[in-house]
Amino acid sequence: MISRLKEISLGNWMLIGMILGLIVGLILNFYVNDPFIKNVILIDNVFTLGGTGFIKLMKMLVVPLVFFSIVVGVASISDIKKIGAIGGRAILIYLVTTALAVTIALLIAGLIKPGVGLNMVGLAHTNVTTNVTLTDTVLSMIPDNPFSSLANGEMLAVIIFGLLVGIILAKLRDETNVVNDFFTQANKIMMEMTRIVMKFAPIGIFCLMAKTFASLGFEGILPLSKYVICVLIGLAIQAFVVYPSLLVILTRLNPIRFFKKFFSVMFFAFSSSTSNATIPLNIEKLSELGVSREVSSFTIPLGATINMDGTAIMQGCAVMFAAQAYGMDLGTTALITVIFTAVMASIGTAGVPSVGLITLNMVFNSVGLPVDAIGIIMGIDHILDMFRTAVNVTGDAICTIIVSFKNKSVDLDMFKGKKKPGKTWDDITRF
Ligand code: ASP
Repeated sequence: MISRLKEISLGNWMLIGMILGLIVGLILNFYVNDPFIKNVILIDNVFTLGGTGFIKLMKMLVVPLVFFSIVVGVASISDIKKIGAIGGRAILIYLVTTALAVTIALLIAGLIKPGVGLNMVGLAHTNVTTNVTLTDTVLSMIPDNPFSSLANGEMLAVIIFGLLVGIILAKLRDETNVVNDFFTQANKIMMEMTRIVMKFAPIGIFCLMAKTFASLGFEGILPLSKYVICVLIGLAIQAFVVYPSLLVILTRLNPIRFFKKFFSVMFFAFSSSTSNATIPLNIEKLSELGVSREVSSFTIPLGATINMDGTAIMQGCAVMFAAQAYGMDLGTTALITVIFTAVMASIGTAGVPSVGLITLNMVFNSVGLPVDAIGIIMGIDHILDMFRTAVNVTGDAICTIIVSFKNKSVDLDMFKGKKKPGKTWDDITRF
């Protein structure tokens, strides 16, 4: 029996944790008002400890893992033009897929009309505000002080500083052997730490799911069910039609192979609602699919920061929902403005829970929609955040595979499962 349990892969354990957590959470939801259950036994203690504790462990890995692996990855590329090509391609694919995602959302919401017939009079005002502009995002890439950026987890600044250190290490190769070895070994330590932390993922996912579903209010979903359906259809199309098609058209790789390995990353993103904390797992699973860390260590953190296709889908649906509810007719120019601002909002949305709702203000403002409507969808946003985060991280991974493929950095035998993933940095990066 025990040996059978040992044969179950970590990914399947995560799935088991997710399903069990969902069931336990839904059962507890019936008793959520019982003070004993609520405060003493489960929700505020055991589940918070297991769930939040696990997210904290993952977050603990993010900055050192991203920084060391970008430095080592870039230093091993040595050709600056190649780094530029990887970055350029990744940003282009990120922007195009996000624009596509909003367009799909606008079309679906145009068809399903989630906001028609909703009475928007007397809605509570919401105070959510945002000041994120493109200029802010570009400026935030330059660290005032790289050490404080590292300490505060400012991802874009960490990426840029890591890139610069890596490029210079490659340039000064013979004069900086000691530092080079330091980074290579520090990176190995972080990779090993990631593998160890990941072993706790099934328990962490179980606790996160149980906690979320035990306290989730389902009453709010009914009047907004059409809106929820729109978002879910949009997310499903993006994840299971757009991404696989891109993978097949641009790389001829089998999307089923990808999803088989990648579902565990989606489960984790779903349970935690944060792309940022998913970065280590995403890089790890892609390397098991033969994707070189040279590319993924750079493009995954970049994607977790600037690429939010799932969030853009929610924002597209929310705009249509509000416009229909207020009886406003959005013309072509307004729709193009929505696509543009939603792409910008995706760049400005940090990969942490619920931020997409905050940057939604920016999209609403761009076409003069009253932000009050955000107040009604806020109640059910948590569950949608879970689904859209799973799509956000999938978009990052698909783009990374495409960019790596073009860069000849995917071990095709490993992708096809003909070869087992290597354990060392050299195994993973050398093809
Ligand atoms: N939770 C999302 C993420 O981390 C961002 C959002 O849409 O709120 O990817």
